[in-house]
Amino acid sequence: EWGAAMPVAGRDELSSLANTLNYLSEQLARQEQLRKHLMQDIAHELRTPLATLRAHLQAFYDGLWEPNRERLQSCLEEIERFEALVAAVETLYEADTMSEVPSRSGAQTDLRQAAQSVVQLFEPRCAAAGLNLAFVAEDTPVWVQMEAKHVAQVLWNLLDNAVKYTPRGGSISVSVGHRNGRPFLAVKDTGIGIPESELENIFERFYRVDKSRDRKTGGSGLGLAIVKRLVDSSHGVIQVESQVGVGSNFTIHWPAPFSSASSDPRGSAVE
Ligand code: ADP
Repeated sequence: EWGAAMPVAGRDELSSLANTLNYLSEQLARQEQLRKHLMQDIAHELRTPLATLRAHLQAFYDGLWEPNRERLQSCLEEIERFEALVAAVETLYEADTMSEVPSRSGAQTDLRQAAQSVVQLFEPRCAAAGLNLAFVAEDTPVWVQMEAKHVAQVLWNLLDNAVKYTPRGGSISVSVGHRNGRPFLAVKDTGIGIPESELENIFERFYRVDKSRDRKTGGSGLGLAIVKRLVDSSHGVIQVESQVGVGSNFTIHWPAPFSSASSDPRGSAVE
């Protein structure tokens, strides 16, 4: 219980203090509620792979099943699911704590270089999935105030989705550059798309558009929540345009660098 709100009357300093306290206690209550939901969601998500593993092992133990290759393979897949979830929860936690410390002096990263290495990582996977992968970038560095590993994580999650939700024969493109002086990163696919009514929900934790379909693709429902957190904490904005059966386009914009005259803000100390 967070207790009753302090009564507020008059326009003196005390009442404005009371307002602030009331606001803070509402915020705290909201945070507490979110944390509770998150814990429940995590517990629920971890239980599913554990239950499958337990059922398999029990059947082997009772002699009901021979542990053949195929069944052992299923066990390994459930363990991988479990590991992926734990890793995603860790990243989410890291992104959460980061956004509590707003920083203007974070690391500078060349979006172009960071994106190129992630795109390279995806080349074999796209080739295997019969997808065409293109990388389009300006030919000078595109600086953003974000750690390279976070840029990589954001692009990795977006590309992972693009690959998962684009059928064979489709294309994916990653573009990097400036629009109106603001650095941007975009990932576009010709995949299954997202219904308009779902667009506002996809950045929520554990949200999946189609539970049965996404269970097959092995998603955790945390990928976009992590993207959103990391983008928020670097003062960026993420937008998505999508049409069912046509494809999706995720675009992130960051604020313009302090000095737009210089292509390398590190050289033009305007802090
Ligand atoms: P998941 O791990 O399930 O992919 P995400 O948080 O990354 O979770 O994405 C949330 C949901 O948004 C996905 O389950 C999927 O339904 C939808 N989605 C995300 N990216 C795409 C995309 N490029 N094309 C179609 N649907 C997508």
